[in-house]
Amino acid sequence: MRYSQDRDRQDKEDRPYKVFKIKEGVVIDHIPAGKALHVVRVLGLSKNLGDSIITLGMNLESKKIGKKDVVKIENKELTKEELNKIALIAPNASVNMIKNEHVSEKLNIMIPARLENIIICPNPNCITRNYDMKTKFTTISRDPLKIRCNYCERIFDRDDVELK
Ligand SMILES: [Zn+2]
Repeated sequence: MRYSQDRDRQDKEDRPYKVFKIKEGVVIDHIPAGKALHVVRVLGLSKNLGDSIITLGMNLESKKIGKKDVVKIENKELTKEELNKIALIAPNASVNMIKNEHVSEKLNIMIPARLENIIICPNPNCITRNYDMKTKFTTISRDPLKIRCNYCERIFDRDDVELK
């Protein structure tokens, strides 16, 4: 009796999540819940899949941040620039390179100094909103986030950021 109660409790506390385990690739963990698809989008993964399998875990339990998303990208190395785009969406994400099923490297992510064609200018009168052209922003401060549009020169913060 005792045994089965303990087991029930354990099942509830650590519901193991079955997210596809990768042998080689990148794991992006501790993404705020609901943002995994934004990460996939900002990395352009929906277009350049190659032979990588991508798995998403959404709304998983996390001791650290309550609820979280996880993105695993198999057989893929991300450039520093690609990784840094993640910081726009999930500044506290942990990014690990996986080799032979083990973490080979923990990578630091940082919002890039220049954001080229990643986000939409929130200013409806900006030239980039009225012509089919790339957007360019300069990062003024990372925490709190302040970015300046290179065209209309307005300054925006994290709440304004909308991905292209
Ligand atoms: Zn602008």
